Amino acid sequence: MWWPAWLAAGLTWACGAGAGRPAPLCASRGLCRAPLSPNASHPQLEADLCAWAFSSESLVDPFPMDVIQENYIRNVRNCIFSIVYPTPFQSRVRLVAVSKEALENVLDLDISVKETPEFLQFVSGGNVIIGSVPLAHRYGGHQFGSWAGQLGDGRAHLIGVYTNRHGERWELQLKGSGKTPYSRSGDGRAVLRSSVREYLCSEAMHYLGIPTSRAVSLVVSDDDVWRDQFYNGNVKKERGAIVLRLAKSWFRIGSLEILAHSGELHLQRRLLDFIIQEHFPSIAMNNSDRYLEFFSTVTSETANLIALWMSVGFAHGVCNTDNFSLLSITIDYGPFGFMDSYDPDFVPNTSDDERRYRIGNQANVGLFNLNKLLQALKPLLDPRQKQLASQILEGYAEHYHSRFTELFKAKLGLLGENEDDNYLIAFLLKLMEDTKADFTMTFRQLSDITEEQLKELHIPEEFWALQDLSKHKLFSEWVTMYLLRLSCNKGDSDTKRRARMTAVNPRYILRNWMAESAVQKANWNDFSEVRLLQQILEDPFQSQQAAEKAGYSLRPPAWAKDLKVSCSS
Ligand code: AMP
Ligand code: MG
Repeated sequence: MWWPAWLAAGLTWACGAGAGRPAPLCASRGLCRAPLSPNASHPQLEADLCAWAFSSESLVDPFPMDVIQENYIRNVRNCIFSIVYPTPFQSRVRLVAVSKEALENVLDLDISVKETPEFLQFVSGGNVIIGSVPLAHRYGGHQFGSWAGQLGDGRAHLIGVYTNRHGERWELQLKGSGKTPYSRSGDGRAVLRSSVREYLCSEAMHYLGIPTSRAVSLVVSDDDVWRDQFYNGNVKKERGAIVLRLAKSWFRIGSLEILAHSGELHLQRRLLDFIIQEHFPSIAMNNSDRYLEFFSTVTSETANLIALWMSVGFAHGVCNTDNFSLLSITIDYGPFGFMDSYDPDFVPNTSDDERRYRIGNQANVGLFNLNKLLQALKPLLDPRQKQLASQILEGYAEHYHSRFTELFKAKLGLLGENEDDNYLIAFLLKLMEDTKADFTMTFRQLSDITEEQLKELHIPEEFWALQDLSKHKLFSEWVTMYLLRLSCNKGDSDTKRRARMTAVNPRYILRNWMAESAVQKANWNDFSEVRLLQQILEDPFQSQQAAEKAGYSLRPPAWAKDLKVSCSS
């Protein structure tokens, strides 16, 4: 264990208020109100935040810490983290949304905890909890193809680690919680609109079955935050918000890159060993090829993640290496977008002038990012391992294509193997591209329509996406080929096919217009649509009355076409 004297002092402080810093939450029982009665139906859930076990030790102990304690913007060296406290908002804060499932099933907290003042303090960065040593992570990254040097958590605080009743280790992070040494020219804050989007989308992705960070809570303040939303000189006052988000690990490709770039190889090895030990249990620590195995896993899992994104029409928007998780989960939601009409050139981020992160380029960008990871690992590899690592990278395309095919075959309800499957998928995507058919609803309506209806080319009016698709002159040709292929499914029936397909083709996704509508209302302190969307997106494959009433499975409204999302957040 590495304990500089000042850090030991910091930890002592964490158990009692220190000069100029917020008092730790629940430092004594006196600060807490009487414990809430435990939930009888879930006796294992904790209703009292003060009794909740939480710690930063597993991140603080293994690494040397930034030796400077003051919170000012600087170039940091020889550490993985800086200890820095969240900056509480100056004004009133309100808890406006909570993910019950994340609270209960990830954090073992009873939902009633959300009513307590301690919880509001906790999730708004107003106070740290006993055992928490808030950290900002030092990382770098390639942004839009170029090395950007030190980036780091400029507005996020890793407030600790929780190991839940399932034995899972989760890292808790506040986003929008104030300046850190890595804030560069930023104010350390996140505005309400981007926080609503991250909160909703990370949970929506979880329920779509896509590896992702989670969101527990959304807090809004009355603090002014100034943003030039579209970088056109129109600076406007917005409100600061904080999302409490969770990931098994927040380490990114950029976490290793910065250490390689600054020649801190000893520390890089330490970080890599830590990540492997904590998060890659199948890799033996005494295996001299462990970095190679690590690279191999990250390569295949990144391919898997991007194929999954493509399977739901998700474009991340800012696929920089600092936004690519080493655990291959979706992190750092910014100007993301789910495409409406199928378009391989769909770019969700209006600030992305080069269209680098268009949806159809994400797989290539994944390869670019993995290549940057390999460059960062190379100083730790011998010549034989370097050569093998290059071969692993060459296998990325194959991993991606086979996963993509597998997912799209499932979307079409295809069983078994057929050499024309890729052609059938590509043919459909081409028809969708030509007719601008809606990506999500084309697949969903193919899941709902009967083989009989398809055979007769009878597309009921409510199948609006299929109606669009059917305008293509080659539609009937594709349908014939599809029906023929379905007839090769062994032991299948039309009912079974439709059940399989509706289980993988969502009816509801977080379309831009839906997020925008929720944001507009939230700006007027009406969080009803945030909550409605959250509830609906928890069951995206199931038709729901409230969602149908809200028009969430209908053709996107005309104004959706003019919506713009930028990097400003
Ligand atoms: P992002 O594009 O949100 O992934 O952020 C890229 C980098 O900019 C990261 O290092 C962030 O911490 C930092 N950053 C973004 N917005 C802010 C902000 N408002 N204040 C401080 N740092 C920020
Ligand atoms: Mg980021």
